[in-house]
Amino acid sequence: MDFKYFKGPNADMSDLLDNKTNCSICGKIDYCFELDFAITKEFDQEEKEGKLGCYSCLREGKFEFWHDTEFGMLDEDGLTKVYNHNMNNPPAIAAEILTEMMRTPRIVTWQQELWLTHCNDFMIYKGTWEPKDFYSNSKDNDGRNLFIEMTNEDLSHLWDESLAEGQNTLTEWYPTYYVFQCRHCNTLRGNWDCD
Ligand SMILES: [Zn+2]
Ligand SMILES: [Zn+2]
Repeated sequence: MDFKYFKGPNADMSDLLDNKTNCSICGKIDYCFELDFAITKEFDQEEKEGKLGCYSCLREGKFEFWHDTEFGMLDEDGLTKVYNHNMNNPPAIAAEILTEMMRTPRIVTWQQELWLTHCNDFMIYKGTWEPKDFYSNSKDNDGRNLFIEMTNEDLSHLWDESLAEGQNTLTEWYPTYYVFQCRHCNTLRGNWDCD
């Protein structure tokens, strides 16, 4: 499955079944998503439960996913500010970009995903990182510095808080950290979602 904005592992795709099965929309056997929380005109609200939709049907827009993004909450009505983390005045985003995003799977998260943005576009979801990934991806082996660069100030306390007393190198932490990369300037950003 190829997505423009989702380059993480399939295991990180929300509502995706592990094995190929029959699509409730087109009947083909392929990897399918559960439609319970999807946006679709194929089924009435009460019919959606237990129905499945395949990759091709998603890409053709037979069903779509809403996303919570920094630009706003994205659904069939476009972008709306619902939460504090949604921008007050988001840039104008082309309709085809919004459509592409809605035909992108949601991320498996503990709470609710927050899709990060950069250069007036949605970022590409890359997967989850543990502390060791910050060391291996930093140019100077300064994992903490890369983490601080990538993480908004209100979440950046995680690194130092996770260090045990007297420990300098961080080996593990408790939350899941989601990594995104800008399609235009390659900037890395990330967030984590449990308190
Ligand atoms: Zn299908
Ligand atoms: Zn950028």
